[in-house]
Amino acid sequence: MAAISLSSSSTNPKKATNYGVYSPCARPFRLALRSSLFGSTFPGTLSAEKPRVSGPRPLSSTRLNAVSASHHSFDVVVVGAGIIGLSIARQLLLESDLSVAVIDRAVPCSGATGAGQGYIWMSHKTPGSDIWELAVRSQKLWETLANSIEDQGLDPLDVLGWMRTGSLVVGGTREDTVKLKERVKQLSEAGVRAEFLSSRELRQVEPALLVQEERGAALVPGDSQLDAQRTVAFIEKGNRKFQSQGRYAEFYHDPVVSLLRTGDKGEVKAVQTSKNTLYSKKAVVVATGCWSGSLMHNLFPESDISVDIPVKPRKGHLLVLENFDSVQVNHGLMEFGYMNHQSLLSGPTSAVTDEQKLSVSMTAIMDATGNLVLGSSRQFVGFNTEVDETIIDCIWKRAGEFFPKLREISLSEIRECRKVRVGLRPYMPDGRPVIGQVPCSNVFVAAGHEGSGLSLALGTAEMVADMVLGNPLKVDSAPFAVKGRSC
Ligand SMILES: Cc1cc2nc3c(=O)[nH]c(=O)nc-3n(C[C@H](O)[C@H](O)[C@H](O)COP(=O)(O)OP(=O)(O)OC[C@H]3O[C@@H](n4cnc5c(N)ncnc54)[C@H](O)[C@@H]3O)c2cc1C
Repeated sequence: MAAISLSSSSTNPKKATNYGVYSPCARPFRLALRSSLFGSTFPGTLSAEKPRVSGPRPLSSTRLNAVSASHHSFDVVVVGAGIIGLSIARQLLLESDLSVAVIDRAVPCSGATGAGQGYIWMSHKTPGSDIWELAVRSQKLWETLANSIEDQGLDPLDVLGWMRTGSLVVGGTREDTVKLKERVKQLSEAGVRAEFLSSRELRQVEPALLVQEERGAALVPGDSQLDAQRTVAFIEKGNRKFQSQGRYAEFYHDPVVSLLRTGDKGEVKAVQTSKNTLYSKKAVVVATGCWSGSLMHNLFPESDISVDIPVKPRKGHLLVLENFDSVQVNHGLMEFGYMNHQSLLSGPTSAVTDEQKLSVSMTAIMDATGNLVLGSSRQFVGFNTEVDETIIDCIWKRAGEFFPKLREISLSEIRECRKVRVGLRPYMPDGRPVIGQVPCSNVFVAAGHEGSGLSLALGTAEMVADMVLGNPLKVDSAPFAVKGRSC
């Protein structure tokens, strides 16, 4: 257990071992800190700042009074508290006795994760593709998690927003129908239960949907969906159970600015944030979504190590209609064209033209609270996250092509019950996330999951944790290697 002695009489040393969310306060006091758990003794007496409870937290009511020292030591420092970073922290906490710190420049769900629609799907992934194995593994881990929550007598719907709705990929043309039948065959051969629904069958299961003759859909009954906010809150709560053992800490509202390295081999000793120096004894994991490219570039300035990860932000809008009962959907829905839009720019040589900048394809779910969530758009407009009403208009019109009832309602009529979610998907030009170790370094990267970060999160976390711990990997990581990805 970490031993902390304080020269400030006003602070309870027992509480001080509970790391929490740090925020500095102006009045400094003196701190001498020795950590046997972290295996390090801080040199001499450190200057520290008096603790202060952080500001409002959107995801959790947990507020801990904690000592805020400017230097801390952990086995692993994870940068980024999106679904990827928090899941990696969770995996390390559960599968090892290492101590873990998570840093975010804001709070969880402030990145792409907070906008995610929640599809944990296999139906739109392609058997044999680079991400297939990882997707299968990750889906299995999500299922296991949902089942374990159920086994504890809890409802995964309440805890994760988990719904086993099944997925429907809906075709709009005869050509789509042919391709969907082929996909069903492929999925079935790969061991995923899938079936093709004729237009008659589709009308029966989704009466609100306009289905023309000779059209149909691919149904994957085992696909699920979750609520990203609830799921992140659940993961955070689980991680915080390790705070009392001194094994977990969160540093929010505290952007990473640099790495402190030793020698010329690139080994990182510490992560420098705007407020803290966090020593990492074993590894640093960078999981900062679409910011990972620029961050890695800045963290390794003038390095001989190639860390140019070409991840870029791909903006997405979702339209959320609360208490909206004009249209009911029973499955998670997606139009077949979504898959083309997702991979439209795949391939190392593809260039982004103005015409390719915006795509809108219909996605629809009823979420855990009964809201209708309609999507979704894809655009390359840098790091801008402002709501663009013209895009919302496009999403609404596109949805109306599938749900005739919506055409009877104008967007202005439902202004009161609508919300918009915007997020920046971390897009990789070659369509594969980057998951691996920076060569000759103790830095790992896990980023670039584009529109599949929620579904791939648990598989990614397991992969990264196994890499850090030196365990055999469950899934081949070669397609995701950092090296050679400067495409
Ligand atoms: C509209 C939309 C719908 C989607 N739907 C789905 C879906 O249905 N299913 C699915 O699987 N995926 C979906 N996704 C994709 C999914 O949301 C992302 O792939 C996933 O959230 C990426 O997670 P992440 O942790 O890598 O990144 P993020 O969630 O973006 O987290 C990165 C974190 O890094 C932090 N950070 C950045 N720079 C720094 C710094 N210098 N120091 C410290 N912290 C920093 C940020 O504050 C942020 O919290 C959707 C995305 C969008 C936008």
